Amino acid sequence: MNSSSSIRLQAGDALIAVDVQNDFLPGGSLAVPEGDAVVPAINRYLAAFAARALPVFATRDWHPTNHCSFKAQGGIWPPHCVAATRGAEFAHALTLPETAVIISKAATPEADAYSGFGGTNLAARLRADEVTRLFIGGLATDYCVLNTVRDALAEGYTVLLLADAIRAVDVNAGDGARALDEMQGLGARAIRYEDLAP
Ligand SMILES: [Zn+2]
Repeated sequence: MNSSSSIRLQAGDALIAVDVQNDFLPGGSLAVPEGDAVVPAINRYLAAFAARALPVFATRDWHPTNHCSFKAQGGIWPPHCVAATRGAEFAHALTLPETAVIISKAATPEADAYSGFGGTNLAARLRADEVTRLFIGGLATDYCVLNTVRDALAEGYTVLLLADAIRAVDVNAGDGARALDEMQGLGARAIRYEDLAP
């Protein structure tokens, strides 16, 4: 292992777990293939951040029953992540710390938000915590992870994409791979847990 390439967690780092919610896991109403695989993967990063008392953010879709992204309202998705339902809960096995900041998005009927920055106070919370570098993983690679990473880069953050803790919807074959290419092309660095310095 090349120690010069390993990543040392430090002050200014924050982890964003994107939409690790029951409806996006196998058995959920908008299941991402192998979506459950991100849970143990993100848990390892969560433990590393907890050990260093670094901040953790968890985004979630938090939709009303008549949300515009649902097919009944002309959207493209089946109903999912309706606020305060089991489907909207974080994966039971996700070990979020007590101090995790929950960022709810797309909570009104008329607006959707794939990005954790969309219509939320995430940017303000990150500034308050003096965050400069974001570690981003979760669901799904080709929608909410992609859009969160785009916005994080546009906001000027250094972005480390947790390549072993994301999964794609792949509505069209290859969407996940294209999203990964785009994020890296925009400047995100794809890492795996093994890249963290012990
Ligand atoms: Zn949604």
